[in-house]
Amino acid sequence: MADKKVPYKIYLNEDEMPKSWYNLRADMKNKPAPLLNPGTLQPLKAEELAPIFCEELVAQELDETTPYIEIPEEIRDFYKMYRPSPLVRAYCLEEKLQTPAKIYYKFEGNNTSGSHKLNSAIAQAYYAKKQGLKGVTTETGAGQWGTALSMACSYFDLDCKVYMVKVSYEQKPFRREVMRTYGASVVPSPSETTEVGKKILAEHPGTTGSLGCAISEAVEVATKNPGYRYVLGSVLNQVLLHQSVIGLETKIALDKYGIKPDMIIGCAGGGSNLGGLIAPFMGEKLRGEADYRIIAVEPASCPSFTRGTFAYDFCDTGMICPLAKMYTLGSGFIPSPNHAGGLRFHGMSTTLSQLYHDGFMEAVSVDQSSVFEAAEQFARVEGILPAPESSHAIRVAIDEALKCKETGEEKTIVFGLTGTGYFDLVAYQKYNDGEMTDEIPTDEQIAASVAKLPRVDI
Ligand SMILES: *Cc1c(COP(=O)(O)O)cnc(C)c1O
Repeated sequence: MADKKVPYKIYLNEDEMPKSWYNLRADMKNKPAPLLNPGTLQPLKAEELAPIFCEELVAQELDETTPYIEIPEEIRDFYKMYRPSPLVRAYCLEEKLQTPAKIYYKFEGNNTSGSHKLNSAIAQAYYAKKQGLKGVTTETGAGQWGTALSMACSYFDLDCKVYMVKVSYEQKPFRREVMRTYGASVVPSPSETTEVGKKILAEHPGTTGSLGCAISEAVEVATKNPGYRYVLGSVLNQVLLHQSVIGLETKIALDKYGIKPDMIIGCAGGGSNLGGLIAPFMGEKLRGEADYRIIAVEPASCPSFTRGTFAYDFCDTGMICPLAKMYTLGSGFIPSPNHAGGLRFHGMSTTLSQLYHDGFMEAVSVDQSSVFEAAEQFARVEGILPAPESSHAIRVAIDEALKCKETGEEKTIVFGLTGTGYFDLVAYQKYNDGEMTDEIPTDEQIAASVAKLPRVDI
C-alpha cells in the first residue's frame, strides 16, 4: 500500500465524505475549562447562552462527551458544492526545496468565500433556520467570516447583519461587495444603529473601530431583535466541531494510500482550522493509538500561545462576552497591524489551549516578512496564491522540510492551506515593494496587558 504512487491530488468521492463531525473534547481527560458568566463568574448554563446563540449550537458548545455528532443531510448537501476538498501532494514544492520530506496540504480555498470558514458558517445558518429564526448577526474584521456567513445565509434564506470594523469597511471594499451580493447588510462599526456603538462614538469620535467593538454591536442587535441570534466564526468549541470535517477528510484520504503523517501543521488565530485539521489525529494521540507532532503557527505580532498566559480572560475588548480559560495576551492587547487579519485575536480556543498546556502540541511564532517569502515561493511552484494567514503554516512546513534536507529524513508533513489571497493584494503589494515591516511586541507591552487580566478564583 505505502509504495503505491500517490497522485498530485487525492480526491474523495461524495460517498466517502464524513457523515459525522468529531468532537475532540470527548477524548480529552482534562476537559477545557468552562466558559464563565462575565457578571457572576460562574460557569455558564445553557439557558444563559440561549438568548445569544441558537439552541442546537449551545448544546454542541457544552457537549464534551459525545464523540461523533451527525452532520445533518442538508449541511452535507451544501458541503458537496465545494467538498471534499483536495489533499494535495506538494511534489513541485518538494522538488524546488530538494527535500526528501513528503509534503501534503489540505486546500480549503476552493469556494467563493475563499476559506475554511464556510464549513462552520453553513452549519450555524442551518441550525438558525431549523429553529425558525429570521436571521443572524455577526462581526467581521478582514471579512472572510462575514463573506462565508453571507453565502450560508443566502442559501437558507436568512437575514444576515454584519458589523464590519470601520477601517476594513473603508479599506477593503471588495469583500464588502461580495457580502452585499449575497444579500447581507454590512454596517461599518462603530455605528449609530446600536446603543453601544453610539456610546463608543461619543467617547471616541472618529474611531476606525475594532473587532471587540463590532462584537458588542452584533451581540446587542441579536439580543434586542426577536428572531435573531449572534454567531461567531472561530474560537468556540462548536466551530472546532464543524471544522473537524477538514481533518476527517484528510485522514480518509491519507488512509487510502497508507500514509501516516509525522507532523501536522496549521496556522492559529482563534484555533478553528487547526482544531479541525488535527481533530482525528489528536484523538488517536489522546487515546494512545498513534503519535504525531502537532504544530500551531502564529504571527510574531500576536503570539498568544508562545508568549501569552494560560488564564481566564474576556473574549472581546468590550468585556461583555463570556470569560474563557485560554492562552491570552489580555483582552486589551492591540496587535500591531499585521496583514494576516484572521490571526490577530488576543486569545485562543479553550480546547487547543488545554491541549497545549498538557503538552499534546507545540507552537511557534513567525515574522510577517518570512511568511510572505514562503507565500511567494509556494505560489510560484504550487500555483495557488495563498492567504497570508495560511502562509504561516507554509513557512513552518518549508522550515521543517529544509531540516529534513539536512538530516536526510523522509518525514511526512501535512499542513492546512486555509484559503486564497486574492483579497489580500495590498499586503502582497507591500511585500513586493519591499515595504513590509515586522512588528513584535516587547515583553513590557505583553506584561502590561496581561497584568489587567480579570481575577478569577475557580
Ligand atoms: C480566519 C482565518 C484563519 C484563522 O482562523 P482560525 O479560527 O484560527 O482558523 C486562517 N486562515 C484563513 C484563510 C482565515 O480566513
